[in-house]
Amino acid sequence: MEIKKILEDSGHYIMNTYNRYPLVFRKGRGMKVWSTDGREFLDFVGGIAVNVLGHCHPKVVVALQKQAQRLLHVSNLYHNEKQIRLAKMLVEHSFADKAFFCNSGAEANEAAIKLARKYAKEQLSGNRFEIITALNSFHGRTIAALTATGQEKLRKGFEPLLPGFRYVEFNDTGSLRKAVNEHTCAVMLEPVQGEGGVKVPSPDYFKKVRELCDEHGLLLILDEVQTGMGRTGKLFAYENFGIKPDIMTLAKGLGGGVAIGAMLATDKVAGAFQPGNHASTFGGNPFACAAGIATLETLLEDGYLIDQCRRMGDYLIAGLTGLKKEYPNLIADVRGMGLLVGMEMTLECSAIVKSCIEHGLLINCASGNVLRFMPSLIVQEKEIDQMLDMLDDVLGGLS
Ligand SMILES: *Cc1c(COP(=O)(O)O)cnc(C)c1O
Repeated sequence: MEIKKILEDSGHYIMNTYNRYPLVFRKGRGMKVWSTDGREFLDFVGGIAVNVLGHCHPKVVVALQKQAQRLLHVSNLYHNEKQIRLAKMLVEHSFADKAFFCNSGAEANEAAIKLARKYAKEQLSGNRFEIITALNSFHGRTIAALTATGQEKLRKGFEPLLPGFRYVEFNDTGSLRKAVNEHTCAVMLEPVQGEGGVKVPSPDYFKKVRELCDEHGLLLILDEVQTGMGRTGKLFAYENFGIKPDIMTLAKGLGGGVAIGAMLATDKVAGAFQPGNHASTFGGNPFACAAGIATLETLLEDGYLIDQCRRMGDYLIAGLTGLKKEYPNLIADVRGMGLLVGMEMTLECSAIVKSCIEHGLLINCASGNVLRFMPSLIVQEKEIDQMLDMLDDVLGGLS
């Protein structure tokens, strides 16, 4: 089909919830994707931190082919080995004792919010239900996750929202301390704010948050939907801060491109859920879990990819810092952790993203003026160099 016709049909039949670029993709391998009209692109978006192993990683593809021939779905009225195996792997490599599976980040956060409330009702004295989240955060688009999201512009038009949420400045323990009251049951934070423009907290912030939570008997919920699965140079971002949460949510990278979410918790907290309290029809189906197992196994093989993520992240930040020296009027800041990197521009960055597309490069713009880089963890120096050259051309054309 001709591109013009495809885009016309998209406008006719797809609900208008995204501002999409006029690109139609058909095929991807590793760090590259190809559009229907035959153009090749270097992919530094990675499906928004989803494709941790690049496009169509052979280990994931083969695991899915095998699983598709054997069993796709059976319902959680029964057990399936793939779900148990993935839960065991996640538990063995994290603070958690138990896993609950669902299908997306928002759903994982819904599960975390419900579990925190239920735990507080049963285990904490008084009437504690309030959850403190950060301004500029992002936790998803369902009503509870949207209410948790500290961005007025995203919540607007959907009121009345869910009662029981309070917002504080990110990376500011004073503001957090002031917000705690007799109704607080949990604090919910992203280790690094992703959608909010790659905001990295100071090194001791989470230690202080953990102390504050312990002091007041509050649960610490970490939303690792974007930062989890090796993205920040550790399997989970909390490992960078020398703390452990009580609840953690995962999604994006967990299935290496297949839809899956998870909510992990300690035994003490997880015990608040009993049969009938929470459920998901598709959650933990063997197909999605086979993708999760293959992804996690590949990431953990000798820790190679996660170490490489840290090195490539440093290499990328060094390269972007070089560009900042070259274009001091265009670039305000370069920051990040592992391969979640942001470059704050002095101007709105949609024109840059469009120009990059013309040069054969996919990059993302977060929060209006922050170019966000989330390449797959398989990215190599030569691809980062290639990207930097293209970006240099684009910025050169602007200044
Ligand atoms: C993307 C994201 C979500 C929402 O995930 P969905 O799968 O789109 O529901 C939640 N939290 C964070 C930190 C995210 O980056």
